[in-house]
Amino acid sequence: MKDAKAMREFMVLSQIVARGVSDGRVLAAMNALPRERFVPSESAAYAYEDCPLPIGFGQTISQPYIVGRMLEALGLRGDEKVLEIGAGSGYQAALLGMLARRVWSIERIAALEERASALIEALGMKNVTIRLGDGFAGLPEEAPFDAIIISAAPIGIPSDLLGQLSPGGGVLVSPEGESGDQKLIRIERKGPRFEREVLLDVAFVPMVPGIA
Ligand code: SAH
Repeated sequence: MKDAKAMREFMVLSQIVARGVSDGRVLAAMNALPRERFVPSESAAYAYEDCPLPIGFGQTISQPYIVGRMLEALGLRGDEKVLEIGAGSGYQAALLGMLARRVWSIERIAALEERASALIEALGMKNVTIRLGDGFAGLPEEAPFDAIIISAAPIGIPSDLLGQLSPGGGVLVSPEGESGDQKLIRIERKGPRFEREVLLDVAFVPMVPGIA
């Protein structure tokens, strides 16, 4: 794609920095990762637009700003174990792979899981694993996680996921609530306490139980 690098830099400055995201590692990762590879070829021209885009099966790749905001809220430094629920296109999973040590991402739609896995492999990202599964159960065999990020909206944060957060400061970022009335929330686990903060209003596809 012609000028993808310039479009990417413009996206980061005009949509993400301009709205207050300032974590330099997040901005550098978003400046480097070719978002056009993660959208269907007919949408490639819109890959750097300020909106979510369809990726098939009624699902979307999130608006770039929301991705930046969620990644910044995780506060990753580079040595973390991370779980994502809702791999979708694999875009956010790939960014997580650039920001953390080891990433697992669960996707319930087999065709999306296969496409995202193939793309992650083609990009040579060895620390990111996409799995077919139901995110409500999390990934107990790899827990605890330093960070958990949910890319679809549950009505309430699933308790199994809270239980898989590291007790020593694990952070979970997720949309929560019914369609039309969702908030992005951040939860930090400090031993037995879960400290909860509301970040902003959002609109995500719903988190759906079971494998499609
Ligand atoms: N992070 C993605 C955004 C995907 S949209 C990206 O960067 O492209 C949300 C995704 O969550 C969809 O692909 C949907 O199929 C998936 N999803 C919804 N409920 C789920 C569940 N219970 N377990 C795993 N994935 C789920």
